[in-house]
Amino acid sequence: MSDAVVEALAVSGPCRDLRHAWESTGDTILIEQKGQVRHFARTLKCLRCETERIDEYKISNISLARVRSRYRYVEGYHIKGGLPIAEVRFRMFQNAEMVVRTSNEGEA
Ligand SMILES: [Zn+2]
Repeated sequence: MSDAVVEALAVSGPCRDLRHAWESTGDTILIEQKGQVRHFARTLKCLRCETERIDEYKISNISLARVRSRYRYVEGYHIKGGLPIAEVRFRMFQNAEMVVRTSNEGEA
């Protein structure tokens, strides 16, 4: 594994494995068309890697439909050429601190 992949996994490995841990930043934008609010957008930020996601929703009478999501990845997130998720998880497993328990340990 190249140094570049090792560095990228340090930034993005947990989020590639577990998916991002999104939290709203509180930034919401209402978009008006012809005097009525038709769309709104909100910004989310990952608690682990700080990638941002901007979701845009279309407002109808009784529902919201997400029409687009855009991402702003942090520097170092991307892996050139990609890496299959199974390989990402294998690398995460290799780097994990291991605690060995026997099958009956902790039982009453
Ligand atoms: Zn993340």
